[in-house]
Amino acid sequence: GEFRLLDFDRLSVLGSGNGGTVHKVSHRRTSALYALKIIHRGHPGAADEVEVVRRVDSPHIVRCHSVLPTASGDSALLLELMDGGSLDSLVGGVFPEAALAEVAAQALSGLAYLRSRRVVHRDMKPANLLVSRDGHVKIGDFGIAEVVSRAGKYRAAYEGTAAYMSPERFDTERSRDGGEEDRVDPYAADVWGLGVIVLELLMGRYPLLPAGQKLTWAALMCAICFGELPAIPDGLASRELRGFVAACLQKDHRKRASVADLLAHPFVAARDVAASRRALCQVIEQRCR
Ligand code: ATP
Ligand code: MG
Repeated sequence: GEFRLLDFDRLSVLGSGNGGTVHKVSHRRTSALYALKIIHRGHPGAADEVEVVRRVDSPHIVRCHSVLPTASGDSALLLELMDGGSLDSLVGGVFPEAALAEVAAQALSGLAYLRSRRVVHRDMKPANLLVSRDGHVKIGDFGIAEVVSRAGKYRAAYEGTAAYMSPERFDTERSRDGGEEDRVDPYAADVWGLGVIVLELLMGRYPLLPAGQKLTWAALMCAICFGELPAIPDGLASRELRGFVAACLQKDHRKRASVADLLAHPFVAARDVAASRRALCQVIEQRCR
């Protein structure tokens, strides 16, 4: 390939998780900036992540320029740098509805693309949506993503946090070997995750448990599978936004809106695109300042 690991200087650490560490790096000759994600070889799913990032290429997905081998046998993904960071750092501030509509619209475009490539992300959460200061929102972190086979079968197990898991994913027996009639639509889980993200940005905190309650697996499972959706305070959200969130957070995956339904939802489809983009840039600028 055209890039080698030794052509880059490591400038800082952008983040780290289960799979590895993400560095901000600079290409010595061109001074171009990138994000370099080192994935440890031993990490389960490392091979899947490389397979999926090679399969996708879209303006709504964090672009992977190159997959580089490291001396220790790990893989390094050379990613486009998203200079606004990830959405988790924007949780807690004020998030105007116009900016939220822009996040939702762009994330949905990303999900529509993934669907066309038969990829399920499976880890939709604020830390995995990246933004640029000029107002782009892109889906990143394919650490537990999967390619859905033609038969529609896919692995049900979940290695991430339960906080963004959809109700049907707690029912692993059924999703693993259910018959035709109760086979789970694997793409519906990413729609649920998007609903939680939008609600979290709106409310300024993780929305499916009361403020302050610990996010234990049992508490999350109860709230997600059996709990009522949280009441959005009066005046905090329009009818369109409430309807959008409710359509994403349908507990029964067969009644949940599809990505195509949501792209046509008035909350997204009727937004003022230019104003929404400006509102999102403002939210990002305020945080970066
Ligand atoms: P996994 O979920 O597989 O364990 P991870 O969470 O360790 O992966 P990522 O989510 O890809 O890895 O990256 C971790 C954090 O690093 C992100 O939440 C984000 O804050 C930052 N980051 C990742 N990629 C980029 C990028 N391209 N540009 C800017 N920041 C990034
Ligand atoms: Mg992540």
